[in-house]
Amino acid sequence: MIVASSIAVVVIVLLYVLLIRHSDLPYVEPVSPVAHLDERKAAIFENIRDSNFEFLMGKLSAEDYQQTKNDLQKELASVNAEIESVLAALSPSDAGQSGARRKATTKTEPVALAAAANGNSAVVCPHCNATFARPMRFCGECGKPLEGEAQ
Ligand SMILES: [Zn+2]
Repeated sequence: MIVASSIAVVVIVLLYVLLIRHSDLPYVEPVSPVAHLDERKAAIFENIRDSNFEFLMGKLSAEDYQQTKNDLQKELASVNAEIESVLAALSPSDAGQSGARRKATTKTEPVALAAAANGNSAVVCPHCNATFARPMRFCGECGKPLEGEAQ
């Protein structure tokens, strides 16, 4: 009984701390230097998925959908750039390597990598075959992820 209630107290305290961190404090020194950026990225991904879903459900006009998606992709690009600059500043030896960013994102980008290997930055969407001049995380045509079949 004592052990069980101790565990309960610990769990409650942990939940309390986690909830406080997410809601009340403006900024907590993150475990990872890019943790807050990763969170922003996750939020953007979620928004992209939401707008994609709303579009598919007919709740969003094609025009609004395209606009929303463009805005989100721009935001995503700026967050990615921020992550890269943070990581580059932290590890100068890795600055020139494309691996630096993936440590933070944990996702591989086979499409982008293949394009880079060809000396060509164009990306072809595996879902709808749309072609884009530069690597993007999400297809500008169908909104699906361009970074592989992981999802
Ligand atoms: Zn596509």
